[in-house]
Amino acid sequence: MAGKPRQKADSDLTLGLPFSGHRLQPCPFCGSLELWVNSDTEPKFVACKECLAFGPTAPTVAEATQRWNRRS
Ligand SMILES: [Zn+2]
Repeated sequence: MAGKPRQKADSDLTLGLPFSGHRLQPCPFCGSLELWVNSDTEPKFVACKECLAFGPTAPTVAEATQRWNRRS
């Protein structure tokens, strides 16, 4: 749509998040927030970039993040 200003604040907000749309708890092992979400291949899971811990796998990203959050 021409003439409609872009919501710059929206993209800025998601920049610092490990995965947009999902709030992840810090790594239960090392407390790091440097997390990585495998959203491309099956199964989905959350991994810690710091200590390379892997969270529980799940069929969907939403479920994988939920399981990660529940464990921490
Ligand atoms: Zn960790």
